Amino acid sequence: MTSGQVTRWCPECGAGYGEQIVACPRCRVVLTDERPVESSAPVVVHRVPDAAAGALLAGVLEHHGVHAFLRSTTLPGIGEVRRDWATTAWGELLVAPAEAAEAREIIAEYLAALERGGSVRDEDVVEGSGEAEPRG
Ligand SMILES: [Zn+2]
Repeated sequence: MTSGQVTRWCPECGAGYGEQIVACPRCRVVLTDERPVESSAPVVVHRVPDAAAGALLAGVLEHHGVHAFLRSTTLPGIGEVRRDWATTAWGELLVAPAEAAEAREIIAEYLAALERGGSVRDEDVVEGSGEAEPRG
């Protein structure tokens, strides 16, 4: 037997590690305390540009009863180790395969609603076009 007992698991490949290990060296994924269920390896449903967007979308999914979790492509605690240099996204949103279709639909609807509603308008962005009027 190798030293220590398995207390954490990689959510991606399901490998178990001792408590000193924080991330799976193979998948570069932060380990979880929950033992993964073999038949339901999570699938990526959406890539997010930053932590805030990820948390927001995860919240939207949770609100619809879909359990989602975020995986950062930048691992905290191991410096700036990136999983894939070609990936510009900050991280990925994952759900159980059985819920993937529903999750994608919810996200697509949410993003479409954002575009329609448009919280950012031109009026808000345009700000003084450089015409300075000398006074005095
Ligand atoms: Zn792994």
